[in-house]
Amino acid sequence: MGVTCTFSAMLASVIASPELAFAQAKKTQRIDVHHHIAAPSWLQAIKMIGADDPVIANWSVQKSLDDMDKGGIATAVLSGNPPQVRPLDRDAAARIARESNEYVKQLTTSHPGRFGVFAMLPLPHIEESLKEIAYALDTLKADGVGVLTNYGDKWLGYSYFEPIWEELNRRRATVYTHPADANCCVNLVQGVPSVLIEWGADTTRSITSLVFSGTSQKYRDINWIFSHGGGGLTAFAERLLVQMVTTPPYLGRFTREIVQAELNRFHYDTAQVSLAGTLAALAKLVPVSQIVYGSDFPYRTAAEQSEGVRRHVRRAGSQACESRKRATHSAAAGERLIPVPRVCVDLACQ
Ligand SMILES: [Zn+2]
Repeated sequence: MGVTCTFSAMLASVIASPELAFAQAKKTQRIDVHHHIAAPSWLQAIKMIGADDPVIANWSVQKSLDDMDKGGIATAVLSGNPPQVRPLDRDAAARIARESNEYVKQLTTSHPGRFGVFAMLPLPHIEESLKEIAYALDTLKADGVGVLTNYGDKWLGYSYFEPIWEELNRRRATVYTHPADANCCVNLVQGVPSVLIEWGADTTRSITSLVFSGTSQKYRDINWIFSHGGGGLTAFAERLLVQMVTTPPYLGRFTREIVQAELNRFHYDTAQVSLAGTLAALAKLVPVSQIVYGSDFPYRTAAEQSEGVRRHVRRAGSQACESRKRATHSAAAGERLIPVPRVCVDLACQ
């Protein structure tokens, strides 16, 4: 086991030869679980209500492929951009979610092995979402579903979502989550966009809601992925692990060990948390095997996120490589992707 390629060598190869860069990307087998796209019908619908932004409006498939090659990404699992279809009415939400999922599925067949699918659901509409779960997982063979951390005034641990979790648990599905504006928390502070602070806080709100409602324990077969290292999770961990479990109504119902066990089984992506302090804190809070790679393209690039992750893994050294040995991996075209310790693979330690 030795480091067979360095990031700088990989970057040089990108400049020298796009084909070589793609080959290198395939060699690293890195899976990006946090990669945004804009299906044409979704973008049109979102533009009509003024909920688009210039970054996602200018997205293209080729831009995704170019960024993946530059950042050493073999496969990107694509998901819908916030606010997904949440602002649309019931019928439009169901139709646009379906068209978006079919569009992404087409990308997986036109670019074999390079893309996966986290299907968009027409939430908060439960019946329509159950239909889309069946279509996405049975017909489209999606790798999982991609949901928001909140639906206006409801978070993922609310009983409202029970039928969704019951079905996804039965299917042992992967549920990828992405933050979005909650009704409570937009335009709170002049000059501080909600994406900057509130999205991280909202991710932690949803984790807390899932754990302390008992939802995550009840639906143990759902494989959760939380964006951005769980948002503020590392900063708030002591409140969850110590303060909450010693305070009514959670005293006696939860222990530190129970809460830690839940945190230990979730996955967390590295998007926007690739700096040394945040990534190191996350790796101290949960096993490194639970940290999966995320780029947040097109809002960030895979190259810059990979650089931060690579530096961390180099510091973590053998622990990360040992973790990789235990990993199982299935990125071949047509197979469902299983989140694995992509952080380690960044080291190219095979
Ligand atoms: Zn994102």
